[in-house]
Amino acid sequence: KTAPEKFTFQAEIKKLLDLLSHSLYQNREIAIRELISNASDALDKFRFISLTDESAKDDQPLEIRLEPDSENRVLAITDNGVGMTHDELIENIGTIAHSGSLDFLSKAAGDQKEEVSLIGKFGVGFYSAFMLADKVEVLTRSYQDETGYKWESDGTGSFTIESQADLQRGTSIRLHLRKDLDEYTDDTRLKFILKKYSTFVPYPIKIGEELVNDQKPIWIEPKNQLTQEQYDGFYQYLAHNGEDSARWHLHLSSDSPFQFHCILYCPQNNMELMGFGRTEHGISLCAKRILVQNDNRDLLPEYLRFLYGLVDSADLPLNISRESLQDNTVFRKIKKVLTKRVLSHLASIAKDDEEKYLEFYRQFGSVLREGIGTDFENRDALAKLLRFPSSKGSSESELFSLEAYLERAGEDQKQIYYLGGNDFNTIARNPNLEIFRKKGIEVFYLEDPMDEIVLSNLAKFSDHDIVSIDSSDVKLPGEEKADDDSEESAEKKEETKEPATPEFEKVLSLFQEELKEDVESVTKSDRLTDSPCCLVMPEGAISSQLQKVLSMGNK
Ligand code: ADP
Ligand code: MG
Repeated sequence: KTAPEKFTFQAEIKKLLDLLSHSLYQNREIAIRELISNASDALDKFRFISLTDESAKDDQPLEIRLEPDSENRVLAITDNGVGMTHDELIENIGTIAHSGSLDFLSKAAGDQKEEVSLIGKFGVGFYSAFMLADKVEVLTRSYQDETGYKWESDGTGSFTIESQADLQRGTSIRLHLRKDLDEYTDDTRLKFILKKYSTFVPYPIKIGEELVNDQKPIWIEPKNQLTQEQYDGFYQYLAHNGEDSARWHLHLSSDSPFQFHCILYCPQNNMELMGFGRTEHGISLCAKRILVQNDNRDLLPEYLRFLYGLVDSADLPLNISRESLQDNTVFRKIKKVLTKRVLSHLASIAKDDEEKYLEFYRQFGSVLREGIGTDFENRDALAKLLRFPSSKGSSESELFSLEAYLERAGEDQKQIYYLGGNDFNTIARNPNLEIFRKKGIEVFYLEDPMDEIVLSNLAKFSDHDIVSIDSSDVKLPGEEKADDDSEESAEKKEETKEPATPEFEKVLSLFQEELKEDVESVTKSDRLTDSPCCLVMPEGAISSQLQKVLSMGNK
C-alpha cells in the first residue's frame, strides 16, 4: 500500500471551509440535503450510463443509505452511483471553487438561515459536510475502476487521497460529527430532516434497513398509471389541511421547449373565506426531484395562490436564490404555461358543468377575480371565468357569466349594465332599474364592492362597454347614435329630447335651489317609469357604491 498523497485546498475553498466550520451555525441540516442531493445525482449519472453501457450494469438496486454510528459519532451517507476516480476526486472536491461562492457565503454568515441553504447553488454543496463534521472521509470507487480511493480532510488546509481496497461501486461520505452534534446519529432526527428535504428523491433512502422516503415521486409518472388514492395521498402531504382529497387536480408534463412535471391541486375550501387571512403557502419547487423551495410564491400569479402543488424541472438550477428565480427564463416560461393551463382547465370545468364550476367560484372567485387588475395577458380568459348575481336570478347566490349575459342581450344592446348596492334586495328596489326592467334588460347586481371594482377595471367585454346604470354614461339600446362626443351629435341629442315645459323648468329650479348643497344638477329624465325621481352619477364619475368603498379605505 502506497503512502497517502497530500493536496492543499485552493485558497478560496480554504476560506469557505473556515466560514462553514466557524460562522454558520444555523440550519446545519441542509448539509444532509446537499449530500443526499449529490448521492442522487451520482445515481442519476449511473442510471444514465447503464442505459448505454452494458458493462456498467449490475443487479444492485440503486439506493442511498444513512448509517448512523452513535458510539463512534459517525454518520455515513452511502450511494451506489457512479463513484469517482482518483482524478475526479481531485477535480471535483478540493481544487475548483466556483467564483462568487465565497462572497456569497461571507454575506450569508451575517444573515444566517435562508441564505446558507443556497450553498448548493454555487456548486460547493459538498463542503457543507464540514458544518456537521470536523473530519470528513470520502470512500469511493468509480464504475470505471477496479480500485477505490479514500479522500480525507479535517477541513483546515489540506486533504489526502490514498487507494482503498474492497470498496463497492459508489461513494460513501463519512462524517465525523462535531462536538454537540450527536443528534445526527439519532434516527428520529435524521428521519425528520429527510422527510423535510428529500421525501421525493426518486431513489430509496434507508436508515439502516428502514425505508424513509416511502413517498413516490408521482408527478413524474404517466397520468394513466396513477390512482386517485395516490393523488389524494400526495395532496394530503402537500396541503396538510385536513381535507381527504382536492376539489380537482391538474397533472402536467412537458419535454419541450423545456422539461417540467407539475401537479397542482385546488382545495375544497378557501381558507381565506374561513377567516385564516391571506393564503401564504406557495408551491413546492423541485429541480430533478430535489426540493429547492417548499413555499415558492412566484411560480403562479397571486390570484392563483389558493392552489397547492409541486413543480419539478430538470432545467432549473438546484438551489437557485429567490431573486434570481424570477429572472430565470425557464422559470418565467413555466409560470406562463401553468397560468394558462389552470385558466383553461377552469374554462373546461365551466363548459362541462356550470354548477360544478360555480361551486368552485363561490369558494375561490374572490381570489381569482383579482387577476383582472393584475394579469393583462390573460385578461380575456379571466373575464370569461367571472360570475356575478344579476336581475335574471332570484337571489345573490345565482351567478351568471358575462358570456351568458351577452347571449341573452338583444342585438342592439351595446353595453353591459351593472348596479352596486348593499345587498341584492336593496339593489333590486333601486329606481334606476325601472326602465331596464320595463325593457327586459338584464343588469348585474353587485353587492360585493370588489365585484364593482373588478368590472369597472375590466371596462369592456367582447366589444361591449361595461357601465354602472347609475352613471350618466349609460346608453340604452337604441340610444347609441348619440354615443360620440362631436358637437353635432350633442346638438341632435338636445333636439331629440322632449324639451321641458316652462312649468317643469320651474319644478327643476325649485329642486335645484333646495338641493344645491347636495347635487351638481337636477335634470329631466326619460328613464323613469314609476318613481318620480332618482339619483345618478355625473358623467365620468365612479359609482356611488364604489365611492363608499374608497372612502372606507381612506379612513
Ligand atoms: P455540485 O453538486 O453542484 O456539482 P458539490 O459541491 O455538491 O457541487 O459537489 C461537487 C462534485 O463532487 C459533484 O459535481 C460531483 O462530481 C462530485 N460528487 C460529490 N458527491 C458525490 C457522490 N456522492 N458521488 C459521485 N460524485 C460526487
Ligand atoms: Mg451538490
